[in-house]
Amino acid sequence: MIKNYMEAMVENLLPSTLNKYSDICKCEKCVDDIKAIALNNLKPLYVVTEKGNIFVKTNELNIQFKADVLGALTRAIEIVSENPKH
Ligand SMILES: [Zn+2]
Repeated sequence: MIKNYMEAMVENLLPSTLNKYSDICKCEKCVDDIKAIALNNLKPLYVVTEKGNIFVKTNELNIQFKADVLGALTRAIEIVSENPKH
């Protein structure tokens, strides 16, 4: 099974990034938009996994890699909060 590791990273880092913002909408629609925008701005990183699970250990990640994901998430949050679809 092939999975996008970047997607798992985004899922993993999104809650703590969202927690830094108190004045934005965090409904399912907006959170999905944030994820989609962030992932479109990040290179996919496919990995092969036997059971379909990817365990992301954020504390073991390369600092630059994590910074890139956080940067993309922050930009995506700004875009969605400035242009909410509802
Ligand atoms: Zn919303």
